[in-house]
Amino acid sequence: MANESMRQQLSLLYQLQEHDRELLSIHERFNSIPHQIKQLEAHVTKFKTDITAKSDELAEVEKSLRSKNADLEMNEAQREKYKNEQREVTSNDAYIALENQIEFLDKKDDETEGEILELMETVDLLKEELADLEAEVAREDQNNNKKTSEYQEERKNLKALIDEKMQQRTQYLPKIDKTLTTLYHRWIERRKGDFVALGKNGTCGSCRLTIQPQNMKEAQKYDKLVYCTSCKRVLYVEPPTSDIPYP
Ligand SMILES: [Zn+2]
Repeated sequence: MANESMRQQLSLLYQLQEHDRELLSIHERFNSIPHQIKQLEAHVTKFKTDITAKSDELAEVEKSLRSKNADLEMNEAQREKYKNEQREVTSNDAYIALENQIEFLDKKDDETEGEILELMETVDLLKEELADLEAEVAREDQNNNKKTSEYQEERKNLKALIDEKMQQRTQYLPKIDKTLTTLYHRWIERRKGDFVALGKNGTCGSCRLTIQPQNMKEAQKYDKLVYCTSCKRVLYVEPPTSDIPYP
């Protein structure tokens, strides 16, 4: 004849264990949320860094462009100066020398104008890329704000669920023998795994090894704690008859 109170104790302890397992997984989810929010932020920060780099690049190109335009202006002034001098020189050689100087400036300007065109194309391209990045970061920002508030909402709900589960836990505890809960808590702290293993079809539910027949018989009496010889967990085995509730 089975010891009903011991069987009930094992059943309650098993329920507590399942309850705690759920509680632990809710806790893990709850604790992971701030990290996930941080990852969202990091993603946007990376985009913002890309924008800064692109803006810096654009500023550099625009600076070169200004400097090339300044070269053109300087050459223009120099050219005017040579032309004025040409009006005043008396020798043909001096005139030709000045003409050569002017031609040299013209050639220089042609090169500079080519460079200016290229730089202007680069500016257009960079501005386009920058606009795309800014649109993208705006979208990401919006998306992140939405996700972040979803996470925060989820976290709030999880907190409520944890409170509720903790409350339920205090209802289980007084029903279970103090010695059992002490053993249970000690095991959990040390090994962070199941303390109670279900014994079904002659097998330990935790380590999956066969429960020796003698051990099975003992466990089915429910008059003392019977441990799995292999994984050392407390066995809560299925009753010999199916009319008894299990687990
Ligand atoms: Zn086992």
